[in-house]
Amino acid sequence: MPLSLFSCYNQSILDSYSDKPAILGGTSIFSEPIAFNQPTLPTYDALRAEFAAVMAGGQLTNGVNVARFEAKAAELFGRPAVAVSCCTSGLILAAKMLGLTGQVIVPSFTFFATSHSLIWNGLEPLFVDIDPDSWNIDPQAVEAAINPKVSAILAVDVFGNPCHKNALLEICECHGLKLITDSAHGLGGAYKGRPIGSFGAAEVFSLSPTKVAVAGEGGLIGADSDELAGRLRIARDYGNSGDYDCRFVGLNARMPELSAIIGLASLGMLDANVRRRNELALAYRRNLDAVPGLTWQKIDPSSLCTYKDISVLIEPHAFGLGRDALASALAAEGIPTRKYYWPPAHRQSAYAGLISVSGDQAVTEQISANILSLPVFSHMTETEVERISQAVIRIHRYSADLNPT
Ligand SMILES: *Cc1c(COP(=O)(O)O)cnc(C)c1O
Repeated sequence: MPLSLFSCYNQSILDSYSDKPAILGGTSIFSEPIAFNQPTLPTYDALRAEFAAVMAGGQLTNGVNVARFEAKAAELFGRPAVAVSCCTSGLILAAKMLGLTGQVIVPSFTFFATSHSLIWNGLEPLFVDIDPDSWNIDPQAVEAAINPKVSAILAVDVFGNPCHKNALLEICECHGLKLITDSAHGLGGAYKGRPIGSFGAAEVFSLSPTKVAVAGEGGLIGADSDELAGRLRIARDYGNSGDYDCRFVGLNARMPELSAIIGLASLGMLDANVRRRNELALAYRRNLDAVPGLTWQKIDPSSLCTYKDISVLIEPHAFGLGRDALASALAAEGIPTRKYYWPPAHRQSAYAGLISVSGDQAVTEQISANILSLPVFSHMTETEVERISQAVIRIHRYSADLNPT
């Protein structure tokens, strides 16, 4: 056993590593599986009076709470904010209200809702590769993909790591393109000292239960003008501006009042929760620092990442096991994981015939095949991170027994 590898650990942690992994008959690290992800909610008591007021008044939608939620978000972004039913509807409406046409450049290393929003608009996603460090859309791949059919870039702040916004804005300026960001993960993050929500034509957030801020279901758009925000508010209400003669076809994408109450309280907890997730990410990296074959997402020192997910790239030869085998061994320890994002968006079965791909997506394919997202939520403890880290370490130590090759 190469004990020297673990010389940086304290003795109490080391002792517990001598056990066999659960998948080889050892005792599971978590007898009751830990959650992969959980919303960190305000208490019911804190919201009781506001819920009661809505129930008593009967105004379940289009009321004061959505307005308060938007005002608080606008203060955070320093520009107009529009509440919607979810990030997906927000992306659909943003692409529609910005009048996009033809192709939209989009990364493939993302949740499929990003590119779904384009297809719902009859637009063609033009997939490009990501950069191997930030795991975000690669500005050079974007440049290489530009052609006369392209009207916009739909970027993503993957796992809450702000994408290369300045480079993308420069490309947009140079080629007359719009920049929209699917920042489902990015609420509470910052890029070069400026809050996510304040960049490009529109940045769109999710407040669904797996995200850093939650509203039950919900979405939020940071818009670059009052005019765009106004059109988005009409668009979320079927396209009806009030006279029942729709000038364009919208959706019902309104956020309910009860969701806005939860969302507002969640925004109040956002800074603390993002800070907490940064501590947890640091704890994972510190605990697993000596384990070979693990690579973490690179965050620019001038960025604030929200760590909506904490994901790690497994190099099978160095670690001793591949991603899928590690995921199975962790599951036996009571530790659920996710393969975010596998398969990559450009290989979704539903997209056959509807998309284009620029370049070979080599980085996307490589990362998608080897990445594993570990449990994280804002009220997770350092002890829980330590126990998950212990599981990874003992699985690595016994990898020769787990791996038939
Ligand atoms: C969760 C998520 C969405 C969808 O958000 P909803 O609010 O559920 O519509 C879109 N894009 C990314 C990257 C996501 O993770």
